[in-house]
Amino acid sequence: MSLTGDPDFTAVVIDDDVLDSLAPGIPPADIDDLRSQVRGPVFAAGDDGLAAEVAAWNVAVQHTPAVAVGATCAADVVAAVSWAVAHDLRVAVQATGHGPVRNACGSVMITTRRMRGVHIDPSRRVARVQAGVRWAAVMEAAAEYGLAGLCGSSSDVGIVGYTLGGGMGSLGRLHGFAADSVTAVELVTADGRLRRVTADDEAELFWAVRGGKGNFGVVTALEFQLVPVPSLFGGGIFFAGDDAPALLHRFREWAPGLPDEVGTSIAIMRLPDSDELPPQLCGKTVVHLRFAYAGADHALAERLLSPMKVAGTIVLGYVGPMRTDEMDAIHMDPKDPMPGWEKGIVLRELPAEAVDALLATAGPQVAVPLIMAEVRLMGGALGRPAVAPDAVPGRSGAFSVFVLGPAVPELAQVVPATGRRVLQALASWRAEESLINFLGDVSGPGEVLAAYPEAFRERLVAVKRTVDPTGVFTFGHAI
Ligand SMILES: Cc1cc2nc3c(=O)[nH]c(=O)nc-3n(C[C@H](O)[C@H](O)[C@H](O)COP(=O)(O)OP(=O)(O)OC[C@H]3O[C@@H](n4cnc5c(N)ncnc54)[C@H](O)[C@@H]3O)c2cc1C
Repeated sequence: MSLTGDPDFTAVVIDDDVLDSLAPGIPPADIDDLRSQVRGPVFAAGDDGLAAEVAAWNVAVQHTPAVAVGATCAADVVAAVSWAVAHDLRVAVQATGHGPVRNACGSVMITTRRMRGVHIDPSRRVARVQAGVRWAAVMEAAAEYGLAGLCGSSSDVGIVGYTLGGGMGSLGRLHGFAADSVTAVELVTADGRLRRVTADDEAELFWAVRGGKGNFGVVTALEFQLVPVPSLFGGGIFFAGDDAPALLHRFREWAPGLPDEVGTSIAIMRLPDSDELPPQLCGKTVVHLRFAYAGADHALAERLLSPMKVAGTIVLGYVGPMRTDEMDAIHMDPKDPMPGWEKGIVLRELPAEAVDALLATAGPQVAVPLIMAEVRLMGGALGRPAVAPDAVPGRSGAFSVFVLGPAVPELAQVVPATGRRVLQALASWRAEESLINFLGDVSGPGEVLAAYPEAFRERLVAVKRTVDPTGVFTFGHAI
């Protein structure tokens, strides 16, 4: 056992090497017993199919659990958690593998991708989704009614993992974090109970799980409010990389004055030499501006965007009317699995010196092995408390900064060092909190807890101690 620095936190913190040494010899009869209790497939270490069952979208992480359970329903999750606890094993959960933190070695890994139920109630503007649903399914179903969920940059991401980590998307400045819109969470806790928590039932757990990620149990279903988006004007523009200084300085002056209807970000991108990219982008360093205006006045949107359009040489792009189920075209995130190393921080402000620091460490003129260095505008509803308060950190931020590099063996040292150097150069303007979904690589529970405002930390640990006293859920961004 290790400490996070505060002796009070000892109960739930387990060292990696202790976890990694859990290579249990589970009797085949016990695995058969588990198989008899669940409808989905069960794979034990050594079984064909285990690696495919637990494969992550971020292929930098290859999970080697002791057992994987392909859950099909809440009852499967109850059985898997109870079986794991009875065998003194820890539980990990994966929907899409867009956000693994490290190998869930020796765990019982519950995969949720078969739990694909989506129900939209247009009259109440509520969506109910099972644990394995990706954003694309809800955005498509809701668009029919002029409604949308608070999806992030890629609709390929799982709703539950994204939402439990806060969830910051293009509509966030108008409607807040995705977690803020959640009205009910159904989860299986370490005692094997399926609980439904709301603002009225188990309010403290309801507060903690919305922002506290996977620390409290395996979520089987979420209910959340959809927002009306009758009209959307959005897209992305790629500019020549050489114009990065002019574009980033214009962005820092321009973005804070935008109305809450606008979500925007800007990224320096080093694109691969790939046949799948248009020739203008192939192998190029470019600046990508993303813009989404959730309002009816498209002429106003054009006027709001115009100062950026003239700040650099446009290489390619489209910004115009779009449907809410086409929002992936704003960020154009990759769809295919890739090995990524990532890390993010939140800034209180973005003065000229901060832009210069970002350009000096990640600008097109420096040779760095980064795929992306992104600055997203925060503020608006992202800075206001949720109607039903939750544990989402980062509300004091004016901008988020996120760096992504290739997690390949030959760059295993240099990418994290370079990414951290970029974020370190911005330390003077850093807010105290961070966004859980953009924490990326962490040194341990202490760094995760440090992402939250001080007032949240003890409260989160108290809930963790109550519902998971022995640390069954210690993977992902564990506290
Ligand atoms: C291409 C890309 C774009 C992204 N864009 C955004 C963005 O715009 N805004 C943003 O906020 N984030 C964004 N993210 C981060 C993303 O929200 C997180 O990585 C999120 O955790 C992914 O969830 P997942 O279920 O898809 O991934 P997984 O790797 O399957 O899950 C990640 C973690 O989520 C938790 N989790 C998942 N399912 C459950 C469950 N049923 N019960 C309990 N815990 C669970 C667990 O802690 C798990 O380790 C992006 C990530 C990628 C790769």
